[in-house]
Amino acid sequence: MEKIMGNKVRDQYYYSGAIHMHTTESDGTRPFEEVVKIGQKSGLDFMMITDHMTLIDRERGKEGLYDKTLVLIGYEHNDLFDTHHYLVFDSPRVYPSDMTVKEYVAQSARDKAIGILAHPDEIRNELTDYPPYPWNDWEAEGFTGIELWNQMSEWMEKLTRFNKILMSLSPRKSMTGPTDRILKKWDELNMTQKIVGVAGVDAHAFLVKLGPIKIEIFPYKVHFKSFRSYVIFDRPMSKDFNEAKAQLYQSFRDCRLFFANIRWGDASKFDFYLQNESETAGIGQELTLGEKNRLYVTLPKTATVKIVHNGNKIIETNTDKLNCEIYEPGIYRVEAWKGKRGWIFTNHIRVVST
Ligand SMILES: [Zn+2]
Ligand SMILES: [Zn+2]
Repeated sequence: MEKIMGNKVRDQYYYSGAIHMHTTESDGTRPFEEVVKIGQKSGLDFMMITDHMTLIDRERGKEGLYDKTLVLIGYEHNDLFDTHHYLVFDSPRVYPSDMTVKEYVAQSARDKAIGILAHPDEIRNELTDYPPYPWNDWEAEGFTGIELWNQMSEWMEKLTRFNKILMSLSPRKSMTGPTDRILKKWDELNMTQKIVGVAGVDAHAFLVKLGPIKIEIFPYKVHFKSFRSYVIFDRPMSKDFNEAKAQLYQSFRDCRLFFANIRWGDASKFDFYLQNESETAGIGQELTLGEKNRLYVTLPKTATVKIVHNGNKIIETNTDKLNCEIYEPGIYRVEAWKGKRGWIFTNHIRVVST
């Protein structure tokens, strides 16, 4: 079978793409074909489209490999009050709109679909015309992941009448990072289970009124050049669509993923792994505590690197390369910051003791 070569880092293959976007099948402003073309031009290896409450384009057979870009179609579910937005991939159907939150989350788990809580900590203080859509039902069980960082949400949250123009002219620079609150929640959940953390662009390409003119905030192209998700494969991506799709979904289930705001630099040379005398574990994998356990981080350029262990920051330093000994079991992850701006965020590597 032919393969699509990603970026090779050690013995792993990285593919970078965008998650969470809308087309004219719901409230996006461009049709599917146009959005895919923009994605291809922006160099996306994969795109995950999520219109509200519809899988019509998947039913039309539009999923596929468009040259080298893998295009997958899921959808964004919401409850009867239009809250608890939930990104669903690999499900057999759109779930009934009268299901409760617990019901649709549980159903997605029974179907072995991928379910991701969308913009769970959305708050809006400033703009009363745009209500927030947070996730409140933390009792719901069976979800696969959390959208830790949502580009459209963060942008809307920060928007005021006064900074509207500046924020509209440089939307990528205004992004800070996932909130401490959601990171804490995610770390806690990962102490006992595997929950993948992702960044979503939530692209719609809305027109926003700026005084007398209307401008397109976040054209798709701008979204595709900011929040990138990097999935990690052990083998190159297959050129067979079904195999490639299975590889991509598996990387989500295994938390083999990190994400970056590439406004601050391409992250395709980034690396984070743990190693001891008998094994090596990359992002999403597990290391059994042995002799001489070390943690390694390599960055494409110098940044503030934070190492987080069981939800607590244990190291913070300015560097492009770091390695240190580790002694404790638990979950480790990395954040890289450019000043006050979040750049790269990884999923966890687990360390277990024998
Ligand atoms: Zn939403
Ligand atoms: Zn959305």
